[in-house]
Amino acid sequence: MNWQRFISVPVFSVLIVASVVYYITVIVFIRDWVGFQTPTGFWNALIFTLLLCLCLFSFFVSVLTDPGHVPASYVPDVEDSLGSDQELKKPAAEVRQCDNCSTYKPPRAHHCKVCRRCVLRMDHHCLWINNCVGFWNYKAFFMLVFYATTGSIYSTVIIISSVFQKDWDFSGMAQLKLFYVCSGVVMVALSLTLGTLLGWHIYLITRNMTTIEYYEGIRAAWLARKSGQSYQHPFNLSVYKNITLILGPNMLKWFCPTAVSHLKDGIGFPTSRYSS
Ligand SMILES: [Zn+2]
Ligand SMILES: [Zn+2]
Repeated sequence: MNWQRFISVPVFSVLIVASVVYYITVIVFIRDWVGFQTPTGFWNALIFTLLLCLCLFSFFVSVLTDPGHVPASYVPDVEDSLGSDQELKKPAAEVRQCDNCSTYKPPRAHHCKVCRRCVLRMDHHCLWINNCVGFWNYKAFFMLVFYATTGSIYSTVIIISSVFQKDWDFSGMAQLKLFYVCSGVVMVALSLTLGTLLGWHIYLITRNMTTIEYYEGIRAAWLARKSGQSYQHPFNLSVYKNITLILGPNMLKWFCPTAVSHLKDGIGFPTSRYSS
């Protein structure tokens, strides 16, 4: 466990924003709107607290989990990369090396300049978790984005509902009115930002792609088109299979950020037929 990753301004900022959003949603809006004694107030406060706990749990797992080291003993399986089937023969260029680490790179691994090492199935380096998003913590990162988006939308709905339903008396309280309007605007903006990020990662998961592979794919497709060929992402199996490779085969465990027993070694990945 690398607790030193918490010594970071962006990581602290996330915790402060989560605390402020919780305080404003539960203490200011739910309590003042309906009170905790009413069933509406009680259940809304409970559900929102639960969402925040799940969000923070995913956040801690994303920060503390090592995204995946390349084992020192790793040597690419040249036989395998060449393919046994003559038709599917792959060029030997598939053997990848990292100039910075002076080691071989497994498929889908990339060198992170911030972490100064190669990371298995690297997606991107995330400042907000002060860690790389890679093979072992991608699911936790995705669940973090999922719970943060859900919590943010929930908070927005509560703020907007309470403002419209309660008979507020703002006369002579311009500052209070400004506070409610600002809270609503900030939460709508946060929901849209997190929702876009969630949509992006759902898109990537359904295609079994990382953010790096998406950009590599654009270039590969352009190069393939120039030579009259087509490019297909080699790890894209089927939508359901792609989802289970990230979230796991058991749907009941999809929403648990630590349920990663389905992950293998981060070195070998099932592929569809080689791209034509
Ligand atoms: Zn490297
Ligand atoms: Zn990194």
